[in-house]
Amino acid sequence: MSCFLPNTDPPAAGSVVVVGVPVDENSSFLRGAARAPDIIRKALHAESSNLCAENGIELAAGSGLVDIGNLDIGPAGGANEQITTAVTGLLAHQLRPVALGGDHSITFPIIRSFAATHPSLTVLQLDAHPDLYDSYDGNRFSHACPFARIMEENLARRLVQIGIRAMNTPQRQQAQRFGVETMEMCTHRGPVELQLSGPVYVSIDMDVLDPAFAPGVSHPEPGGLSPREVIDIIHRIRVPIVGADIVECNPERDLGEMTVRTAAKLLKEIAGAMLKNG
Ligand code: MN
Ligand code: MN
Repeated sequence: MSCFLPNTDPPAAGSVVVVGVPVDENSSFLRGAARAPDIIRKALHAESSNLCAENGIELAAGSGLVDIGNLDIGPAGGANEQITTAVTGLLAHQLRPVALGGDHSITFPIIRSFAATHPSLTVLQLDAHPDLYDSYDGNRFSHACPFARIMEENLARRLVQIGIRAMNTPQRQQAQRFGVETMEMCTHRGPVELQLSGPVYVSIDMDVLDPAFAPGVSHPEPGGLSPREVIDIIHRIRVPIVGADIVECNPERDLGEMTVRTAAKLLKEIAGAMLKNG
């Protein structure tokens, strides 16, 4: 499956490409995240703000950021294979995807695409939840499981999790089994020391944020990070970022577009960091 429209050339090598992945069939509790990509885009282009990241990178046309639209996911059941095929195609053109979810289940088929081109990938996951269940409600591809699949297939050299505050016993055992580096919270100990070496993939689950800032998620967990803290973490990544996703934004649960607006802000900051870091 090609991500490009007929007769359109792929963006230049090295471009950061926004790609919507409107999938929420693996959500365990509430649906709605599949509607997020287009709503986040609308917030990104709202006249209330501009397209400048805080690091000074302008994301307007010609910046190296290209929106290629949403993946055309077919009938239920085959989404994972389609996502892997599509992202593999982007990587073959040396593009750097920023996927707009969709629920967190999309991260496994995306990361699976990176194995051939990035065998020593570090994955930085910002999330309230470890998403390390072996299986959830009988579904091994649930949005509660993607990082178990990634680690058992050795698709990441390191998995670093920040913001985790719902680590129960089965997932703690999985974290130990896979050698996951978990920072349960960071702020009371001062700034997170991110000792990362590239290439890095950044996966942002919107519920890493406190529900006071981002109520529009399916699994709100109080006690989370502020947008400022998440942005500061992004800014402290000094190594090449080869891909990213922003997932679990559920417009059905949002209040006054707070969450989609914050997702659009994080999209600007992650894209700006990708373009700046090279
Ligand atoms: Mn989560
Ligand atoms: Mn998650």
